Amino acid sequence: MLTGMDEAGMRLVREAAEIVVADPKDRAAIEAAARDADAIITRTAGKIDAEVLSWAPKLKVVARHGVGFDHIDVPAATARGIQVVYTPGANTQDVVEHVIAMMIGLSKHFPIMMKELEAGNYAARTSMRGREILGRTLGIVGFGRIGKRLGETAKHGFGMQVLYHDIIGPPEDAELRAGATRVSFDELLRQSDYISIHVPLDGSTRRLMNRAALANVKEGCILINTSRGPVVDEEAVADALDARLLWGYGADVFDVEPPPPNHPLIGRPDVMLTPHSAAQTEEGLRNMATMVAEGVLDVLAGRVPEHPVNDPVEVEKVRSGLGLPPLYRPAR
Ligand code: NAD
Repeated sequence: MLTGMDEAGMRLVREAAEIVVADPKDRAAIEAAARDADAIITRTAGKIDAEVLSWAPKLKVVARHGVGFDHIDVPAATARGIQVVYTPGANTQDVVEHVIAMMIGLSKHFPIMMKELEAGNYAARTSMRGREILGRTLGIVGFGRIGKRLGETAKHGFGMQVLYHDIIGPPEDAELRAGATRVSFDELLRQSDYISIHVPLDGSTRRLMNRAALANVKEGCILINTSRGPVVDEEAVADALDARLLWGYGADVFDVEPPPPNHPLIGRPDVMLTPHSAAQTEEGLRNMATMVAEGVLDVLAGRVPEHPVNDPVEVEKVRSGLGLPPLYRPAR
């Protein structure tokens, strides 16, 4: 296990297995722990690449405590007959609330007003106008679990008009619940007062919000990124803020984590930044720990897991080809 997790999940795993906790940044400790591991649980910092997999001859399952699995080499795991599982939905509400907090905070100039108050400048209260969210347009990039719930919350909580862009077809019931309209990426950029990004990091989304995309946003747009840092070009965001094209930028994720001290966005008055902490709530941590433990225990007990990343049938085929014992008991 790469760092601990909420006791609710630790307890479940402890009942069935011995737990070794290794520092996710200490490759030697990971190598030592991997040697006898049947399962590896990893959070955001613990990179599971082909080398880590090669250290673990007995490994049956890699489990992601969280949602984005861009730091796990899934094809390499499949090629070794290793199941990968994750915890989709465990922190959906947490991310939605984080986005809403940033939308509100940036609309009302919280970052600068808090700094001015601390500096004794009470007169700052009349120095800038904030704005209401009510009735404005929210563009959601990636209308998956988080995107859909954000859309519903924005519509019902703030009477917002909801647009979304996604590569897969319109899920009609979800569209209805959020009163959402599917538009092209360019149209979303042009029409939205708020843009919130909820895509996974992969080849299709890296630098999706690049300089060219930012040049097309509506003037005064507030951009929020709680997905993965490399989806956004941070230098281009700083320039768009300087040009007052963007009103503000909110992010829970960075191109490089942790971000370097000379980061172009840290310390600006028009940004709200958090250290990848959106999911670090009591509920989110408990949900992720419980779900990740259940995923591991299912695989180790020969049950097909509820939330696989790679296809269990494919994994089983690879195992058979490699002469490894099957992971799953035949269905009765
Ligand atoms: P999800 O898989 O339910 O939704 C992702 C959506 O993005 C899908 O509908 C998919 O079709 C769409 N998509 C994929 N590629 C696209 C593209 N090129 N253009 C447009 N749409 C595209 O995932 P989710 O649970 O909503 O989470 C989204 C992401 O948020 C995760 O992958 C993760 O990286 C990130 N996340 C961050 C935190 C945090 O702590 N900040 C917590 C949870 C999730």
